[in-house]
Amino acid sequence: MLLLTWGRDGWSLEAAPRFVGSWGLAILVLSLGGAAMLVSAIYGFTGGVLFGASLSILSAGMRWHAARLFAGRPSAPFRILLGPAAFLLGVSLGLAPSLDDRFVVVCSILAIYGFAAAYELNRMPDASQSWPAITLLVLASVSYVSWIPIAFTVPLESIAAAMTNQWLPFVVLATLLLRVALAFIVLSMAKERDEEEQRRCAQTDILTGLPNRRALFEVAEAVVERRVHGGGTPVSLMIADLDYFKDTNDTFGHTLGDEVLRLFAKVAQLSLGDNHVIGRLGGEEFAAILPGVGAEEAVDAAERLRARFAESAGFVSGLPVGATVSIGVTADLHVDSGLSTLFRRADAALYAAKSAGRNRVVFIGPDDTAVPVGEGRVVRTSPTRLFAGPGLLEFSQVRSA
Ligand code: GH3
Ligand code: MG
Ligand code: MG
Repeated sequence: MLLLTWGRDGWSLEAAPRFVGSWGLAILVLSLGGAAMLVSAIYGFTGGVLFGASLSILSAGMRWHAARLFAGRPSAPFRILLGPAAFLLGVSLGLAPSLDDRFVVVCSILAIYGFAAAYELNRMPDASQSWPAITLLVLASVSYVSWIPIAFTVPLESIAAAMTNQWLPFVVLATLLLRVALAFIVLSMAKERDEEEQRRCAQTDILTGLPNRRALFEVAEAVVERRVHGGGTPVSLMIADLDYFKDTNDTFGHTLGDEVLRLFAKVAQLSLGDNHVIGRLGGEEFAAILPGVGAEEAVDAAERLRARFAESAGFVSGLPVGATVSIGVTADLHVDSGLSTLFRRADAALYAAKSAGRNRVVFIGPDDTAVPVGEGRVVRTSPTRLFAGPGLLEFSQVRSA
């Protein structure tokens, strides 16, 4: 079932399908080991039993490794072979001469790999979702450990006797149920991871890795919604648009243009402080929502971003790109009017920044007061109605003054 699922996913090596596939392969190896042990025991072939036991250990190592990779940890394939190698070496050196000794060694190694697999899953950031797998792995490992004293109290006279023990069917049945349950859990964990990945992809802009337009609007809606009910705390919004970006593309090529967009995303994340969500609205336009951040702080952050970007985009990949950004900022204490009002104001501020010559920040507050900020120098206008016709003129006059 696991291998068929992996095959349906085109034997993909992505984390989720690979987890399912490796688990399936491990179960296959385990089954081969079990069959080898059974057949060898019936025909009294000790070498075959040792081979079967090694396959069981190998399978436990493979399951540990699958869990490790699923948890996002680096691959460590040689450690899969460590268990079977240690077992075969110990036996060939005569360290475990009796059947009981070997039984104890095999149980111990299986338990160690089982606990290690549970440990790896428990280290995942979303470990809460893997508790059923962790529980079953720990249960299986505890059962291996609990067999150890049995080997001391009831010596296994011969392999054949062990294989024909009246309790064996029950042990086999319990183990089988555990394995089937684990297989279903592995499938559901992989499915969940896959869905999570798809959700993440649907919300991420592939070029910059930032939230896309849809994701950003979801966050912004949630922030504004919280504020309407919570009230009182400020919220700021900024819209940034790269200047003359068409020319950048035309002069240096689309690939370098992409590089500049990625650079902007990086600089923005570093410049806007901890309390912000920035996303790509589309093209060379970005927006950031800053919950709990008032006008002054938002304007400072935007100016910091503008200056840093102008500095770091002076040269990109050794070319004199000289990219800059214009940013429109708004802030509000009372967003009862909704998100669209915030966007309208930030957009108007951006338009004003473009009209005023680009590479600058303009703030428009709730009463449409504009505060232009440029070249690291904060210039505040007297309250001016920026969009009341002559207001724009006054605003330019303040700048040139
Ligand atoms: P302004 O200063 O007025 O904003 O001028 P502009 O040239 O930046 O604005 P315009 O809207 O004319 O051009 C935007 C350009 O952005 C056009 C388009 O080729 C480019 N662009 C949009 N998305 C991408 C992208 O993903 N990668 C690259 N390299 N360019 C893009
Ligand atoms: Mg532009
Ligand atoms: Mg644009």
